[in-house]
Amino acid sequence: MTTASGNDDEALIAAVERFLAREVRPVAIALEQADEYPESIVEQMREMGLFGAIIPEAYGGLGLSAQTYARLVETIAAEWMSLSGIINSHLIMASAVMRHGTPAQKDYFLPRFARAELRGGIALTEPDCGTDLQAIRARAQREGDQYLVNGSKTWITNGLHGNCFALLVKTDPKAEPRHRGMSLFIAEKGPGFSVPRKLSKLGYRGIDTVEMLFEDYRIPADRLIGGVEGRGLQQILAGLELGRINVAARGVGVARSAYEEALSYSQQRKTFGKPICEHQAIQLKLADMATRVEAARLLTESAARAFDAGKRCDLEAGMAKLFATEAAMENAAESLRIHGAYGYSRELRVERLYRDAPLLVIGEGTNEMQRLIIARRLLDAAADRQR
Ligand SMILES: Cc1cc2nc3c(=O)[nH]c(=O)nc-3n(C[C@H](O)[C@H](O)[C@H](O)COP(=O)(O)OP(=O)(O)OC[C@H]3O[C@@H](n4cnc5c(N)ncnc54)[C@H](O)[C@@H]3O)c2cc1C
Repeated sequence: MTTASGNDDEALIAAVERFLAREVRPVAIALEQADEYPESIVEQMREMGLFGAIIPEAYGGLGLSAQTYARLVETIAAEWMSLSGIINSHLIMASAVMRHGTPAQKDYFLPRFARAELRGGIALTEPDCGTDLQAIRARAQREGDQYLVNGSKTWITNGLHGNCFALLVKTDPKAEPRHRGMSLFIAEKGPGFSVPRKLSKLGYRGIDTVEMLFEDYRIPADRLIGGVEGRGLQQILAGLELGRINVAARGVGVARSAYEEALSYSQQRKTFGKPICEHQAIQLKLADMATRVEAARLLTESAARAFDAGKRCDLEAGMAKLFATEAAMENAAESLRIHGAYGYSRELRVERLYRDAPLLVIGEGTNEMQRLIIARRLLDAAADRQR
């Protein structure tokens, strides 16, 4: 289960499906409702090598393509979306090092990320800004061969259980344009780096999302990704293309799960002497739900294919993220309706899908921003054609 070739990919997905059915399905509802971190499940994910899913084999990872990674994420999210978040933001951090790190940074960090010896996520958002990242205020000031970091971050996933984060800061707050003053570090927890609070959430529970505080936190200068200041925003935004493909894949997983639950329930529940799936009103919903799943998956595969081919794919990734996550929202709501009162019960999975889905339209760039990115690309292409 260690290479990126076709047969091994199939074996990996099949092994993950068995693991989810055996280890996750029986406990997910209870862990999620208790907002309890799934420690032993995460340990098994580590043993399966999932923390190194997209890290090249040369650095000890599985070296999966974006297409296989998307299938893996869909499979996990269809069972319990929180589990995919535990590896996804970790791998966005890893991908920043893979694409922009110095050779020494790759040699040091990538094997440790793949083994999950160092694991975490991305620390970008601050109390006053998420979408407008250029407005961040966390500051890193050079002092000899170190930087002194002060500031705060919030909504950081894996913040409590992780020990290492891609941290976006200002190294030159006066720079114009503002992104030229932004830098990205790989920050390991240590003195001056604290987690004051775990946040309470509507869904996406079990996984930890936290506030972070940096008070005279000292970080060695060789932890600056790429070794050059002023490139942090581009470095992290480039990683968000893959991030959006993975959020799209989560959307496919949630949308599929909502559809499958609805299909199965509609075959069992009877009203007026027949299963509700025989009422046309229910059939119309099932048809729309299944169509959304297929369309969402095709858009996600197309974006992943473009990514694997090394093409610019912000348009494809934006469309996939937008469509698949809205599909997750719509399918979760429809599934809940098809379940009637039981959809409102905390004993069935469908209410969790209904609470998990909204995160997908917010994370990795809100869907409003995806629409703006898509429109900008379309207008640029139209302008190019007119030249
Ligand atoms: C459960 C969870 C986990 C998260 N995990 C992480 C994490 O691990 N790391 C991390 O760094 N962040 C994380 N985030 C934060 C997330 O990335 C941000 O919430 C997101 O980027 C939006 O930022 P915001 O919440 O500040 O909203 P704002 O930027 O304040 O936006 C508010 C609203 O205004 C809209 N808007 C903003 N600007 C425009 C514009 N120009 N045009 C049109 N509409 C606009 C937005 O679409 C949104 O609807 C997480 C969030 C959640 C809920």
